[in-house]
Amino acid sequence: MDKDVHQGFETLAIHAGQEPDLTTGAVVPPIHQTSTYKQDGVGLLRAGYEYSRAGNPTRTALEVCLAEVEGGARGLAFASGLAAEDTLLRALCRPGDHVIIPGDAYGGTYRLFTKVAEPWGLVQDPVPLGDLDAVRAAVRPETKIIWVETPTNPLLGIADLAALASVAHEAGALLVVDNTFASPYLQRPLTLGADVVMHSTTKYIGGHSDTVGGALVTASAELGERLAYYQNAMGGVAGPFDCWLTLRGLKTLGVRMDRHCANATAVADMLSGREEVRSVLYPGLPEHPGHGIAAKQMKAFGGMVSFRMGSEEEAVRVCESTKLFILGESLGGVESLIEHPGRMTHASAKGSPLEVPGDLVRLSVGIEDVDDLLRDLERAITAATR
Ligand SMILES: *Cc1c(COP(=O)(O)O)cnc(C)c1O
Repeated sequence: MDKDVHQGFETLAIHAGQEPDLTTGAVVPPIHQTSTYKQDGVGLLRAGYEYSRAGNPTRTALEVCLAEVEGGARGLAFASGLAAEDTLLRALCRPGDHVIIPGDAYGGTYRLFTKVAEPWGLVQDPVPLGDLDAVRAAVRPETKIIWVETPTNPLLGIADLAALASVAHEAGALLVVDNTFASPYLQRPLTLGADVVMHSTTKYIGGHSDTVGGALVTASAELGERLAYYQNAMGGVAGPFDCWLTLRGLKTLGVRMDRHCANATAVADMLSGREEVRSVLYPGLPEHPGHGIAAKQMKAFGGMVSFRMGSEEEAVRVCESTKLFILGESLGGVESLIEHPGRMTHASAKGSPLEVPGDLVRLSVGIEDVDDLLRDLERAITAATR
């Protein structure tokens, strides 16, 4: 595509990788539901495709678009966020290598590192990434990756991406950023020095809670080529229909994200004013310890809000008392969700260094009418603390 004409985020999200179909003119890339492709002679591929694990046109459309919206050289789509993470680890690490992970990493990431990668030989250290001295102190000669989430799940901690990129590169390691919570609309880690961005496209990019997927985007074409080799060799690819749904979601990411942020801000403000709520964790609040860094590296503060009720019983009751906020795991869809991380998404971290507080409630604030969301939460808090 002509870069001089199309440069804005929404323009890229709607058009990058999605030229109208050459044979039919279809404006939307078709779902190429095929496993294989006719060759015009032995080894003579018509459009570069031979087998859909190695490549599929619907997946290519998504992969090109993901690379463009993240400002990267190469995008790769996977069957899930965890499949993307696993592929990345196998491509970059060998047994004996060391990885620094966030002190409050996503539970599934922590499980992948400790239960799957550790028995294979990877050594990992959870470190609070907001503390740069702690990160520097944890670096070893065999450190290959500093793995970052910002904002973190579920505590909404903020890490300084540009500073961590310097620490990683001084150590000869790569900076990998799980950008699921912010989405490329709010934060582009590759422009701040990161080497790889990872996504659970299940969340904001897909945006409609109707498909599971993952992605990797690399700053360099060379690393992208290496990861593409592992993507095909390991086989955790996204199917054509899932790619099509994800691409359709990506087109509206910008407008959805604006509303997620506006609604989350209103929810965080309301919660801050309730005396039954002990504390509110939202990087948009001026008193949040990461507010300054978030304001510097993010366009806005996202749609996730967590809060602490002071007791586990009350937190559980709030989760069970909302009518509009649906009790469920996952996040990033148009509908609002509520959950109790200690017993749901982060139950597998119980007893580990990543255990989350029992009185914590996590909200994925959707894009419904904000007055309805506020009324639902206020009523639930009143009912739960009566
Ligand atoms: C959901 C999630 C993942 C895992 O992605 P899946 O698509 O569920 O495999 C990784 N990181 C974060 C921050 C997530 O929220």
